[in-house]
Amino acid sequence: MRIGALEAGGTKMVCAVGNEFGEIESLVKFPTGTPETTMPQMISYFKQQKIDALGIGCFGPIDLHKDSDTYGCITSSPKEAWRNYNILDRFLKELNCPIGLDTDVNAACLGEMEYGAAKGCQNAIYITIGTGVGMGICSEGKLIHGVMHPEAGHMFIKRLSSDLFEGTCPYHKDCLEGLVSGGAIGARYGKKASEIPKHDIAWKYTAHYIAEAIVNLILTLEPERIILGGGVMEQEQLLPLIHNEVVTLLRGYLQIDQLQKIEEYIVRPGCDGNQGILGALLLGRNEL
Ligand code: ADP
Ligand code: ZN
Repeated sequence: MRIGALEAGGTKMVCAVGNEFGEIESLVKFPTGTPETTMPQMISYFKQQKIDALGIGCFGPIDLHKDSDTYGCITSSPKEAWRNYNILDRFLKELNCPIGLDTDVNAACLGEMEYGAAKGCQNAIYITIGTGVGMGICSEGKLIHGVMHPEAGHMFIKRLSSDLFEGTCPYHKDCLEGLVSGGAIGARYGKKASEIPKHDIAWKYTAHYIAEAIVNLILTLEPERIILGGGVMEQEQLLPLIHNEVVTLLRGYLQIDQLQKIEEYIVRPGCDGNQGILGALLLGRNEL
């Protein structure tokens, strides 16, 4: 079986072809331009590859309701050229095969659950902390969508009283994304997040807010595993700080084994950076 996979991102489109066992045979990347420039490149690649199905993990927000008139539309994306663009419809018209669609982070969550750090779990959360903050959530074996799909990267959190930074989210200022995305960290400290020294107080604040979000998620969903990916997590010192903060914030309230081995509970991704494309492949496989 030849399955196409697309990880549609704000800066690049990763296109691949693989099989139902998650073995990738071919992979290409196109810069994300406008739909007029980028769609024909991807369509021509997938046509040449003669795929039986396609899976798409797409940046959002996107309309994921199969009975909606705008199913497959990218909605209020900051990428203006793609706003209100129906990416699914275009591929369906051109490729003539079943197509599975979900958010990029739900796809990454799926990839991690099948092949990576959440293998064997039925309840897992994938969080990416990079240009923005996004979350894919799987509960009792099903990726959560609800009315649209989770946008938990924008959850509201309790600010430390000593912290006067107003936050960078254009909608909410100091939501999680407005405080801990790479851009927010850069704006707060006046330099790129990657250039802030490892022992800087910046990382304590960042870890604290990420931990608050994680505590909210643990209390709400009781996941079996939480995976933290994205560029900001390249900061090696951050994960142990987050572990400590999560335990501190919970104050012994939850008596679950996972918290006794927190370094096995809140973990890095386990697919060598391929969780998104492997997840997209699974979306394609599941649609067949
Ligand atoms: P995206 O979110 O665009 O898919 P990434 O997850 O790679 O991509 O996130 C990129 C962002 O992560 C960069 O804009 C930068 O703010 C941040 N970042 C990348 N590398 C580092 C690093 N080593 N330390 C801290 N922040 C980083
Ligand atoms: Zn926000």
